[in-house]
Amino acid sequence: MFLENKANRDSQRGWIEVIVGSMFSGKTEELLRRLKRAEIARQKVEIFKPMVDVRYSDTEVVSHDSNAIRSTPVESSGNILLLSSNVNVVGIDEAQFFDNGLVDVCRTLANQGIRVIVAGLDMDFKGKPFGPMPGLLATAEYVTKVHAICMRCGDLAHFSHRLSENDKLVLLGEKAEYEPLCRKCYSKLK
Ligand SMILES: [Zn+2]
Repeated sequence: MFLENKANRDSQRGWIEVIVGSMFSGKTEELLRRLKRAEIARQKVEIFKPMVDVRYSDTEVVSHDSNAIRSTPVESSGNILLLSSNVNVVGIDEAQFFDNGLVDVCRTLANQGIRVIVAGLDMDFKGKPFGPMPGLLATAEYVTKVHAICMRCGDLAHFSHRLSENDKLVLLGEKAEYEPLCRKCYSKLK
């Protein structure tokens, strides 16, 4: 499905892939897996993340298993367009923290023949659609929803329950701050 052997962008067909899920669902790992395969296929890859995501490192996309790849932190989605000349593949991590302009940016890139792979949280900790993710899901060719494991019952989880009382949406967390929950366990809390 995802061809990686098209080095010439002029003859290349672009598209959008979106990888979504809760915290600890393996979104970033799946993004990195696809980007690394593109690099093996000698594609020119650029990776972006929002400036707000400064958990571990300024210039690397780091997943929870420390599987890192170099990336560029950008302040707004518009910067991605400016920095994506001469690339075959654009990866975007933590896409939920970008402005809504990201949807148009991804469409423009794909229309230019670029393969765009976006990873992000589909819902915030309140269970509401997160930032530009609904628009990205609606306009992508390919959508992959990955699941975590419910910390309370072991079923598949797709909610990110925040354990702290902090109400700020931009609170990036480790295991101490969130737990993935299934619908049944999450709805019991409300
Ligand atoms: Zn559960």
